[in-house]
Amino acid sequence: MLKVNQNYLKLPGSYLFSTIGRKVRKYSAAHPEADIIRLGIGDVTQPLAPAIVQALQGAVDEMGHAETFRGYAPDLGYEFLRETIARKDYAARGCEIAADEIFVSDGAKSDCSNIQEIFDADCRIAVCDPVYPVYVDSNVMAGRTGTYDPEAQTWSDVIYMPCTAENGFAPQLPQQQPDLIYLCFPNNPTGAAITKEALQEWVDYANRVGAVILYDAAYEAYISEEGIPHSIYECEGARTCAIEFRSFSKNAGFTGVRLGFTVIPKDLKADGVALHPLWARRHGTKYNGAPYIIQRAGEAVYSEAGRSQLREQVAYYMKNARTIRDGLRDAGYTVSGGVNAPYIWLKAPNGMTSWEFFDYLLDRAHIVGTPGSGFGPSGETYFRLTAFGTYENTVRAIERIKAL
Ligand code: PLP
Repeated sequence: MLKVNQNYLKLPGSYLFSTIGRKVRKYSAAHPEADIIRLGIGDVTQPLAPAIVQALQGAVDEMGHAETFRGYAPDLGYEFLRETIARKDYAARGCEIAADEIFVSDGAKSDCSNIQEIFDADCRIAVCDPVYPVYVDSNVMAGRTGTYDPEAQTWSDVIYMPCTAENGFAPQLPQQQPDLIYLCFPNNPTGAAITKEALQEWVDYANRVGAVILYDAAYEAYISEEGIPHSIYECEGARTCAIEFRSFSKNAGFTGVRLGFTVIPKDLKADGVALHPLWARRHGTKYNGAPYIIQRAGEAVYSEAGRSQLREQVAYYMKNARTIRDGLRDAGYTVSGGVNAPYIWLKAPNGMTSWEFFDYLLDRAHIVGTPGSGFGPSGETYFRLTAFGTYENTVRAIERIKAL
């Protein structure tokens, strides 16, 4: 008899943001007068920078003429974009990454959820707790689960590395040995960053035990402090133990445009097998290339005009981050993040759980945030606010919270 993939049935409840959406819709229906400010989902709000719009328009024109029309893009990405990334992103930082080690895609979410396909079904994953839910859910869909503890919201086969105020929201090396280690810095949801020395420890550890680090650097453009690595390849030895995911979503406002890339160095092996050709095979078989128009827009991100306009865009969001962080501190909250990341992580006051605080904030201040428990057990009693709103709304939201 035909059966569905039973692993999908193991996935608990609905996805965090659909639960939030449902609650907000219900609240709005009951309180149509409520002027709700959304600082929950990590989606950008500023329009595309002029340099990007110009590149898109230029590429659209090219597609409209027989001489410059393009069909399928190369599976792994156009040379012009891969070469630009290798030179202006990696070489400029002193990282040794070649253009043909870069795989262009439609975004980091697809890649960081699909990457597990090239590893054995029995491999053991380690994730930070709290965690971007995609890492765990994609592994659950692939059957790397064990049993689920609904109370703790954990899978017995997954190694959870708590990131709490006690360790500065940076994971410690795990006691059990993982095969794949998901790290995301600057971090979603905690907004924490990691120093180069601390990341070097992870690289040394992974090389020592033969694990692969899956490094999600989707928020690198938000790093404002010295000594924080923008890429894992700034660390010595990362070429033999790390895959890096990058996204244009938050550094260039591409959440609705869709573009990202993954780096797999040719030196990287697992069990003596090079991973680069495996991912090239997977990508080439299941993905038909990011659109030409979008890749030209990606190239414009690295142009002089693009860079300066995007610096301003990031600065706009980081001004919001500062407003939230300082405002919450003034109001007596315990707050972290918001310095090298567009996320502010706060402790729910008065012993409230994170969903209790969600309801409280929605009801009393008409503000939507994200309950920390949706990101894992160590997120319980925490709450995430994002800097991606407009400045005006951010200021209004903080005034409301202060007035509570
Ligand atoms: N990785 C992290 C940690 C994220 O927070 C997000 C988006 O919120 C993504 C990846 C997804 O990036 P993309 O829009 O490129 O798919």
